[in-house]
Amino acid sequence: MTVMIVGQKIELKGSNKFFTYCRKAFGVSRFTYNWCVAKFTLDYAAYCAAMDRYRKELEKYKKSPLCFTQSPVKPRLPTALDYKKEFNALRKEQYPFTYEVTKYASQQAFINFGKAVKAYFDNVKNGKKAKDKNRKNFFPRFKKKSYTSGSFYIGGDQVKLLTGKSCSEKLNNHSKKQYLNIPNFGYVQLKENLRFTGHINSVTISQSGDRLYASFSIEITEEEYLRTHKTAVQHNTAVGIDLGLKAALMLSDGIAIEGPKPLKTKLRKLAKLQRQLACKQHPRTKGDTTRVSRNYIKQSAKVSRLYRSIADIRNDFAHKISSILTSHYEYICMETLNVKGMMANHKLSAAVSDVGFYNIKSKLMYKSEYKHRVLYEADMFYPSSKTCSRCGHIKKDLQLKERVYDCPECGLSIDRDLNAAINLKKIGAVSPELTPVELTALLSDLKRNQITTSSVKAGIR
Ligand SMILES: [Zn+2]
Repeated sequence: MTVMIVGQKIELKGSNKFFTYCRKAFGVSRFTYNWCVAKFTLDYAAYCAAMDRYRKELEKYKKSPLCFTQSPVKPRLPTALDYKKEFNALRKEQYPFTYEVTKYASQQAFINFGKAVKAYFDNVKNGKKAKDKNRKNFFPRFKKKSYTSGSFYIGGDQVKLLTGKSCSEKLNNHSKKQYLNIPNFGYVQLKENLRFTGHINSVTISQSGDRLYASFSIEITEEEYLRTHKTAVQHNTAVGIDLGLKAALMLSDGIAIEGPKPLKTKLRKLAKLQRQLACKQHPRTKGDTTRVSRNYIKQSAKVSRLYRSIADIRNDFAHKISSILTSHYEYICMETLNVKGMMANHKLSAAVSDVGFYNIKSKLMYKSEYKHRVLYEADMFYPSSKTCSRCGHIKKDLQLKERVYDCPECGLSIDRDLNAAINLKKIGAVSPELTPVELTALLSDLKRNQITTSSVKAGIR
């Protein structure tokens, strides 16, 4: 039996009191993490020096082992677990405030810190360099205090979810609404009920602007997945997808899918609000003692509210489009998202972040897995745009501004993105075009989800 992990993020109906609790828990989790970073920075420097000494001694030892009473001892870098032990030994005496919230607020920080250290060493090993010059190659950083965000984790053993009916008298025990127990606090109502039945692995409480959310990670069976994701699944159909500038996605069946409309205006407004935020009084550099003004906090709340609404639009679009594509097509072929190449082109980079291609792709990936679909990725150097989709001629000098592909060999005249999409389809399984019935089903599904499309056709000169 396959087990799947699904997530659901639900807004919480929190009181001011709960908000205060959360701010405290965010603080504890940030404090613990930063405690690790401070220790690690010192320990790592000491470790590097000790390693140098060790290597020199080892060389001497190899030459003349008789001069030593014992072989040199290799220094050891403390792990996150060591820090956890040390922290917990001091906790009662020095950090009693960490007991006011769930134990996970402080304890999960060590796990997160361990991951950050591992990622750092992995990056060093792979020679990966950070783009940001101030980011010393992914060395763990201090977490900053933020008025508009934060998160803490609650492990599965402390998660208790009750419906009003079975709750204590204090709550409205006739309601079917669900309540989440927050350790050391009490019950908080969820704004919608959990959709899945299964074991809850964990819950992460997070703040975004003036709202609080609970993100559940739930283990469900395949049957439960199929019960909760009722979609007709087509077989033996294939599609090539080109991610483009003009339309967000171009399907090899000639359907151009537009990105969500409100996104553009909202993104422009976001830029404006962020400019205004920069003018409000706040510390600008490290060590600047300027106080954060009321207006700064107010403005940053506005920014994060708009930011959230943009994220919601993107997420909604990504969910819808990935669901539709994975239910209508068995084989999905797309290009490898090449960060460097895309970011080098300014216009393209804006489009990439506009619609959130990474988001769409990651959702396509996991939904394909759940629905037993096959996702193909084209080789990074596969010339999907430059190749003629009819005769295979490669047009080496194709410019980005040429929106129509005119083949000098066979006379095909076709929309550039459609040509690329058809080429991408070829890397997957050989399958026929969609039948008119299948095509109608796909279009009506897109329309039902309020996704704007237009159709693009190829012509021959
Ligand atoms: Zn051709």
